[in-house]
Amino acid sequence: MPVPAPAADELVIRVRRVGVCATDLHLLAGHIGDPFPLVPGHEFVGEVSAIGDPAALERGLAVGDHVAVEMLLPCRRCPRCIEGRYNLCEQDDMMTGLARGRELGINIPRTVAPGLWGGYSEYLFVPPEAIVHRLPDDLPWDVAALVEPLAVASRAIARGRVGAGDRVVVIGPGPIGILTVAAARSAGASVMILGTRANRLETALRFGADAGVSLVDHDAESVVRERFGGLADVVIEAAGSPDAQRLAALLVRRGGRVVLTGACGAGAITSFRSDEDLLTREIDILPSFLSAGGFGPAIALLERGEFPYAELVTHSFPLEAVAEAFGVIEGRAEDVMKVLLLPTGP
Ligand SMILES: [Zn+2]
Ligand SMILES: [Zn+2]
Repeated sequence: MPVPAPAADELVIRVRRVGVCATDLHLLAGHIGDPFPLVPGHEFVGEVSAIGDPAALERGLAVGDHVAVEMLLPCRRCPRCIEGRYNLCEQDDMMTGLARGRELGINIPRTVAPGLWGGYSEYLFVPPEAIVHRLPDDLPWDVAALVEPLAVASRAIARGRVGAGDRVVVIGPGPIGILTVAAARSAGASVMILGTRANRLETALRFGADAGVSLVDHDAESVVRERFGGLADVVIEAAGSPDAQRLAALLVRRGGRVVLTGACGAGAITSFRSDEDLLTREIDILPSFLSAGGFGPAIALLERGEFPYAELVTHSFPLEAVAEAFGVIEGRAEDVMKVLLLPTGP
């Protein structure tokens, strides 16, 4: 496809890294509507390769600057956008017919000009409504590539109002779960992570977890009570299963907060035992969708470099090897954490 020349208020970025997300596999499998033909990839970072003069002035950007672009393209005019919850933008999209806002790499078909709406590509088109963040020049690309999942984690702890001294349980030691541990720890919380894969629980210890507990051979509730001297103030579910959602409600104290970040897929309905689980304990159940408001805090965390972020990037492939990259994730090998594609070389 031709590389577009940006108009006055647009830019084009040269994609240096794009994370392969489980969402991309669901997209290919047809679980998320039918936006095809599509350029997927929503976890991209890169450098400005061309920019219109007014856009450069307004955004304070120049060719060569390192940037992260948010996948959400909000209308900025509806009530939800104005209150800052632009992940809930109410402007249904006319072009795609979707009852939700446009998202780069997810739901804008390639047939909509200029076509380069996703990160699995050497170049990405950035329209005027996009939210673009400048990245520090010296932040390594492999670390910068974690900004979107870390922004998801940052939103989750903001939704859960995690603060200093809170006792936090994270369920699910995937990349999002581990980055959620890091964000919660940075906010001053004590954090415990629960999961089934031993090596991932161990990785979480290097990202600020005070304990990583296996659900295979422990009773979660007694471990939490023992370690925290009671139930958790906040439980963040990052496993994406109805079982994990139910467990989250059991591990939180009266009046505590449960944050749900994992997608459980079509047809999954989480049921709770009884009123005792929710009503009589006044638990706040707080779904956290995507990364709105999370990029600023995430970039600050990466800059602070408190944790060994680069360690999470376990596999990198050139763009041509995308099938191999998907295979690595589907194979669920022990050592897989974050898989990146490098569309324009190292
Ligand atoms: Zn993702
Ligand atoms: Zn809106």
